[in-house]
Amino acid sequence: LLSLEDATVRFGGRAVLDAVGLDVAEHEVVCVLGPSGSGKSTLLRAVAGLQPLDRGRVLLDGRDQAGVPAHRRGVGLMFQDHQLFPQRDVGGNVAFGLRMRGASRGQRDARVRELLDLVGLPGAAGRAVASLSGGEQQRVALARALAPRPRLLMLDEPLGQLDRSLRERLVVELKELFGRLGTTVLAVTHDQGEAFALADRVVVMRDGRIAQSGTPLEVWQRPADEFVARFLGFDN
Ligand code: ATP
Ligand code: MG
Repeated sequence: LLSLEDATVRFGGRAVLDAVGLDVAEHEVVCVLGPSGSGKSTLLRAVAGLQPLDRGRVLLDGRDQAGVPAHRRGVGLMFQDHQLFPQRDVGGNVAFGLRMRGASRGQRDARVRELLDLVGLPGAAGRAVASLSGGEQQRVALARALAPRPRLLMLDEPLGQLDRSLRERLVVELKELFGRLGTTVLAVTHDQGEAFALADRVVVMRDGRIAQSGTPLEVWQRPADEFVARFLGFDN
């Protein structure tokens, strides 16, 4: 579904993405792990079309995305700081991407109901964003990202600001949801427990490069190098 070839992004002479090659198959859930500043968000932004490449290509279904604007790529991106629109109610937030696509009012309302049921917030369409808890807001952001049925869903620290017990519960729910919908997912996290629970495949980044890519078990049992081992918390 997705291929990155030699993807390179430079800021001020420094390669923040450094010749990254990555393939994501349809229905695969891939989690990108790595320290702060290793290029995880930049990777997602490049795939989404929000960050131009200095070198290399992004292919979706084999088609080069150079020059294809973000809203025509068919990918959904849930940002690190998931920012809902505070002046819209929950339904207005979820319907945002549908409105842009010219769906009718009736179609939008039906889809909003369906999505809110899906993320476990039935009947919340009329609620004010400010009245929701952090975890509920995160679910609304997820519903908003899922609304246009993206062929690739990208999540940047989707559970970022939540406490541990809520994260653990939501990870289980997300895993089940993605399996049920057959969603292809590329998700960034710096929480390895989250990545290992969610992912079919884990990608560990370091300084704009992929240090290792493998199933959670492979990465856990055979870290590619000392950096990966240390990152996973094997101290010796
Ligand atoms: P975090 O875990 O903290 O979110 P990250 O892995 O997502 O980190 P990125 O946001 O991809 O990291 O940033 C990688 C590097 O690129 C950082 O050093 C960052 O300061 C730099 N960077 C990102 N965007 C820009 C920009 N627009 N201009 C200059 N430098 C940038
Ligand atoms: Mg980031």
